[in-house]
Parts: sequence; C-alpha cells; structure tokens
Amino acid sequence: MSRRVGIIGHPVGHSLSPAFQQAAFSHSGLDVVYERWETPLTSLPDRVASLRAPEVLGANVTVPHKEHVIPLLDEVGGLAARAGAVNTIVNREGRLFGFNTDGPGFIAALRNEAAFEPAGRSFLLLGAGGAARGIALALLEARATVDIWNRTPGRAVALARDLGAPARALADPPHLASYDCLVNCTTVGMEGGPDPRGLPCPLETAGPALLVVDIVYTPRETPLLRRAAARGLRTLGGLPMLIYQGALAFELWTGIPAPVDVMFRAAENELARREGAAP
Ligand code: NAP
Repeated sequence: MSRRVGIIGHPVGHSLSPAFQQAAFSHSGLDVVYERWETPLTSLPDRVASLRAPEVLGANVTVPHKEHVIPLLDEVGGLAARAGAVNTIVNREGRLFGFNTDGPGFIAALRNEAAFEPAGRSFLLLGAGGAARGIALALLEARATVDIWNRTPGRAVALARDLGAPARALADPPHLASYDCLVNCTTVGMEGGPDPRGLPCPLETAGPALLVVDIVYTPRETPLLRRAAARGLRTLGGLPMLIYQGALAFELWTGIPAPVDVMFRAAENELARREGAAP
C-alpha cells in the first residue's frame, strides 16, 4: 500500500509543496503520495487524528493552522515549542510529533544559496508575524543579532520581548547602514497580498555590502528584490527557504537525505507553468 503525506491548511490550492515533495519522493524511489488536505478549522481535530493511521508518514501545516495544531499533538519540542508554531508533523507508530522547519530552512537557504553565515551578523527583520517569529528564533540560535521593525509597532515590541535579548524592536523607521542583512517577513510585495507593488521599506540608507532577502516567493522577483538589485545589492528570494523547510520535513518523515536539486527544479517548473498560464 502507498504511504501518504499531505499539506493541511485553508486554502491549500496554491501550495507549491505537492509539486516539489512529490518529485522528491518519486526521485528517491519511495511509494509515497503527497496530497492537498483542505481543512477548515472545524475539521482540524479529525484531520490531525487521521494522521495516526499506519500508512501516513505525517503532514505539512500551513496558514492558518500552525498554532491551532499544537494541542492536538503528542509532543512538540525545541524551536516549534518556542515559536508556538508547527509546520511539520511526523507520525511515529501512532504518536504525533510537531516540528518547525521554517527557521532552520531560512538559515539553510542563507548558508547554501547566499554563502552567508549568520553568526555574529546583524539582521533587520521587517514584520512581526509568524514567519518573522520563526526566523528570529533560528537567527538568535545561530548567534546573530536581530532588530525588528513592523507597521504595527506594538507587535514588534511584543515579539522582541518574547524573544529576549539581544532581540530589539525599533520605534522609528530603520536606518539600514548598520545591518549586514535585511529580511522582508511581511506580505508586502506578495502577489494577491495587500500591497503587491509596494516596498516594505526604502533602501536609500543601505550600505554596499547589505544582503537583501525577501521570503515572499510569488513573484520570484519582488519589488524589493528588483529595487535592491538595481542598487547593486546582493539579493536572495523566498524560494530557497521554502525548499529547505520542505527538505528538512522530507528528512524527518523518511530518515533519508532530501534531493534538494530535484525539489528546486520541480518548484521552478511549477512556478514557470503557473506564470505561463497566468492571463
Ligand atoms: P502574518 O503572520 O500574517 O504577518 C504578516 C506581516 O506583514 C505582519 O508583520 C504585518 O504587519 C505585515 N504587513 C501586512 N500588510 C502590510 C502592509 N500593507 N504594510 C506593512 N506591513 C504589512 O504572515 P506570515 O505567516 O508571517 O507570512 C509573511 C510572508 O512570508 C507571507 O508573504 C508568506 O507567504 C511568506 N512566507 C514565506 C515562507 C517561505 O518559505 N519562503 C515561509 C513562511 C512565510 P502588522 O503586524 O502591522 O499587521
């Protein structure tokens, strides 16, 4: 019998995970089917309970359920417990374990795709939502310093307080010259988001060595990345983080190394297919 994994969220129709996870299972010769599990909040307890079946390896969890799944699991440790968010569930003989691979996926993307080691570097995170929280925790664990600036200042203050020193919330719009890396963790610039053509912050004060990262991955070249490249700054898009969080999930489910190149190719093909199909 085929084993099963899926993505739990609402909506999940546009998720790229089925394309690149299925490619990884097929490439690795594993008889696993990756499914889309559209799950409104009222169905979440039943959906999570269904993961205990012996043929189910586990699941990815996406918006809006990363926090809601926690009380439904048997064990949640490490970063997931500190982030208060689970993006990967593993079924081990009927017991459900929760992990968060978003932050580690971000760090792997920085190291592997931008040759950027976070230890000892200063980061400015724009945004104070779920993605910013996971990334900030992973950066602090990697011994980076983290400042946070958010449209709603109170959320940045609350996040910095939860994270503890050396995380700091900025009260005023940031001056970029003192940072090594800027990371957009807002939805600004995201296709279908509240401000698809906007910039999450101006880049006029950036020094020449600033690395500009946008975790938004649709479109692949966001307005922020385009503006940064036009200023001659180094950039990293959001697709690598997506792939590495997925690669870490694949390894948790299967115990074998993820074929990262295959996953990148499948995701890029899927994005190109969608861009080609766009009106
Ligand atoms: P979230 O929890 O809803 O947080 C959204 C953030 O965006 C908040 O800080 C919000 O500020 C800010 N924001 C929204 N509209 C804004 C505007 N018009 N101007 C300025 N700030 C605005 O979302 P999330 O889960 O953290 O996700 C954030 C983005 O990251 C999404 O685009 C998501 O697709 C992307 N993401 C990518 C990956 C990846 O693997 N590459 C992983 C996770 C998330 P307020 O607090 O003021 O509302």
